[in-house]
Amino acid sequence: MTSNPAHHNPSRIALTLGALALGALACSPLHTQTRPTPPRAIIVLDPAHGGPDLGSQLTDDLQEKNVTLALSARLRTTLTASGFTVLTTRDDDPTALLPTDQRASVANHAHALACIVLHATTSGSGIHLATSTLPPAQDADTPAVIPWDTAQAHYLPQSLLLANQLGVTLINAKLPTLLGRTSVRPIDNLTCPALTLEVAPLPSPDPNSADDPIPASDPGYQQRIAQSVATALTAFRSHPEPGPGPASPAKATPKAPRKPTTPTTKPANPTPAQNGAAR
Ligand SMILES: [Zn+2]
Repeated sequence: MTSNPAHHNPSRIALTLGALALGALACSPLHTQTRPTPPRAIIVLDPAHGGPDLGSQLTDDLQEKNVTLALSARLRTTLTASGFTVLTTRDDDPTALLPTDQRASVANHAHALACIVLHATTSGSGIHLATSTLPPAQDADTPAVIPWDTAQAHYLPQSLLLANQLGVTLINAKLPTLLGRTSVRPIDNLTCPALTLEVAPLPSPDPNSADDPIPASDPGYQQRIAQSVATALTAFRSHPEPGPGPASPAKATPKAPRKPTTPTTKPANPTPAQNGAAR
């Protein structure tokens, strides 16, 4: 990933911004009968772990980093087919992992409709959805520059809406789902409606069944999740926004973006700064 920034698909972002500009042009002049094609909404997927960070050891020969990557690929295919543009923080198993802050920067530059951090586990069952533990920001409007460490606070109303939408859709698809709060990084740094989606084994719908639960790595299970995510995001896309969001993205980068090879350190200055614009 670190060796190939094309994974961030800047060309796709450029394409979308181009479509936006074209849309603005097409609206003003006269007698345009054909409506401009709306820009495809961007979804950022962050398949957690990778490279030397294995994540959980799910079975003797299965590591979490590979399950999140497989789920990310499946989501990309399904969401693209549903009309979304998908950006991911990695598309392979890199030798050096992108620092967490940089994963957040990738997401924040995308002005995404939604950012989803993917995890997998052997504990619990079904799907665990979580939004940030930060208290919601009190400001009515999102300031132009917001602190990096609490950036997500300004997007919490939308994140909760997204989590509820996805939770309902998963449950309708007979996938047991828990909604919670967590501040697993980089969720607090994200300036988009954001949640973590952790896949746990799926128990048989028959409580008397002696069948083993379906593991998080199962392709059929992952496809059901991907389809539910696509359905939920399609509904979410048509929701009126309850607060500040991708239409007026804030800048949440109190430090210059780091090179992927630089070790992650705590930001020296967590207060707002003017550099590192999120565009
Ligand atoms: Zn994990």
